[in-house]
Formats: sequence, C-alpha cells, structure tokens
Amino acid sequence: MVINTYKFYCEARKKIGRDALYLLEYASGYDKAEILAGKEIDIKDETYNNINSLIEKRENGEPLQYLTGRCEFFGLDFEVGEGVLIPRADTEISVEEVLKLCPENAKIADLCSGSGCIAISVKKNKPNAEVYAYEISDKAITYLQKNAKINNSDIKIIKADVLKDPKEKDFDIIISNPPYLTNEDMQNLQQEVTFEPKSALYGGEDGLDFYRAITKNAVPMLNPGGLLVYEVGYDQAEQ
Ligand code: GLN
Repeated sequence: MVINTYKFYCEARKKIGRDALYLLEYASGYDKAEILAGKEIDIKDETYNNINSLIEKRENGEPLQYLTGRCEFFGLDFEVGEGVLIPRADTEISVEEVLKLCPENAKIADLCSGSGCIAISVKKNKPNAEVYAYEISDKAITYLQKNAKINNSDIKIIKADVLKDPKEKDFDIIISNPPYLTNEDMQNLQQEVTFEPKSALYGGEDGLDFYRAITKNAVPMLNPGGLLVYEVGYDQAEQ
C-alpha cells in the first residue's frame, strides 16, 4: 500500500506526539528527513500493521525505548528491552563525576549495572581503567553483554547479588545507581515505568536497602582513600 509519510506522521502524532516520528523511522526504514518531506512510499501490509501496532503500544504507555530496542546514553548506543532498566539522562551526571575523580588506570566497580550504561560509558572515556560490572538479573546480564559488544567495551561482567556476595577487592572507585524507589513510590509509578522490572526500581520500604547493604559491603572492597559514588533519589540525599 502507498502512504504519504508526512500525512501518516501527522495522524500518529495526534496520538503519541513526536515519538511517532521515531517509531515511523524505526519501522519503515526511512529516515526522519524523508518522512517529514512527505515521501510517498509503497510499504508491505506487514510493515503497515507493524507500525500501527507500535503506535498502539506506545499509546498504551509502553516506553519508546522498549519498542525500538534502543537508548542513547552518554553519546553511546545501548540495546534495551523488557527486563532491564532504561538508562536515564540524570545518570549521566554520576558518570561525569566519576570521570572527573578517576585516575586513568583506576580499578572501578559498577554495582547493579543493569544495561551497563555506567560501566561502559566510564570505560569508553577511561580506556586504561579496569572496569567491573556487577549485576544479578540474567535478563539484564544478556543486555549488559550485548552492550559491551556493541560498544567494543572490554569490561568484566560478573553475576552477583550486591546485597550478599563478597566481591573482588582493591577498587579505587565504586559507583552505583541501585534501585531506590520506596513502597509509596511504587504505588504511584508513571505508566511507562510500570513496564520496567520491579527489581530494578524497588529499594525496600524506605527505598534505602541497597544503600545500606552496599555501603556496608563496599567499604572492604575499596582501597584506602577510595571513593563510593551513588545516584540517589531527589529526596534521599540527606539520609
Ligand atoms: N545502573 C543501571 C542504570 O543506571 C541500572 C540501575 C538499576 O537497575 N536500578 O541504568
């Protein structure tokens, strides 16, 4: 069937805003400029149905990044999907701080690594650092491995429960963006976030379980003078 890409985009935009452009680009194989130029394209029924089903899923709150399977973080490309937390732009601040504080050949651990966005971004910018990524979820580890490969990143991926397992020692920096939402937060999630794994979001009743456990376990992992860097919720800094 023949569609006018721009007209199609305008209709879809009424339902899901500008995300329509990304989904259309992803599913049609035409780039944004071509779509906006209003190209008449002949597409297979299968592609047409696929585009409509993606628009419907987005309308039902499924995150754009899960639908396209991609997310950009710190200028790098990451593969994501159900079972792994979508990297957030806020987390780039933690990466920037670590890069400022980090000697070139530091030994660094990223705890609760998820997609690997922190570990891989740090390694990309400090190629001589030795970077370990710890993660418990098998699904997340699958993405972590793919993302290390996509980004040609020579990080060490280790399956571990940071709440329990004793780990490798002699780190100069430990960084973590652990799950930190409270019971109350979990009752009031934005619709998109309900598609993300609870295990990557929920930090116990007061949201601080991982900070308590990691702070206790991490100290013996650090070299004297080592640094522990956390991302925390907007209202958790004092605690
Ligand atoms: N560290 C990963 C990130 O920043 C995963 C965090 C998590 O699963 N809570 O995206």
